[in-house]
Amino acid sequence: MVLVNSIEKGIVIDHISAGLGTRIFHYLGIENSQYTVAFIMNATSKQYGKKDLIKIENVIDIDLAVLGLIDPNATVNVIENHVVTRKINLELPKTVTNVIKCKNPRCVTSSESNVPHVFHLVNDEKREYRCEYCDDIVDMKGDKQDEILHKQWTCSRSGGR
Ligand SMILES: [Zn+2]
Repeated sequence: MVLVNSIEKGIVIDHISAGLGTRIFHYLGIENSQYTVAFIMNATSKQYGKKDLIKIENVIDIDLAVLGLIDPNATVNVIENHVVTRKINLELPKTVTNVIKCKNPRCVTSSESNVPHVFHLVNDEKREYRCEYCDDIVDMKGDKQDEILHKQWTCSRSGGR
């Protein structure tokens, strides 16, 4: 196992549910980054069983709401001078704008391109979000996330590319 234990300055996303690391990795767009990045899959965690872990040797701008949407169980550690200066427990965001794409073809967001896609959390446990306009429910649990997450927006938000 590759471990980059000592980061001088950067971000460690820990306790990612095994399998979701890839999704976070792609969301952050770090596959094309210049930073030193360690991506560890299926690490054994005493507390959680298997987990994924991402270490980025740079403090980058991360949208914590989107990260929480992908995996509310993950934690983000901000490291400066080799010390964890901030530990953030992610949570499901109550409202997300332009992150989830409404799949309803009759929804106003499907026909009007300048209408923001707004979704509200309606069920914590099932991770269900409701479209503000058409009341369609999307489920952020499981494998459907990939098609629901609006890649274009999330990419441009994660580094201006
Ligand atoms: Zn809708």
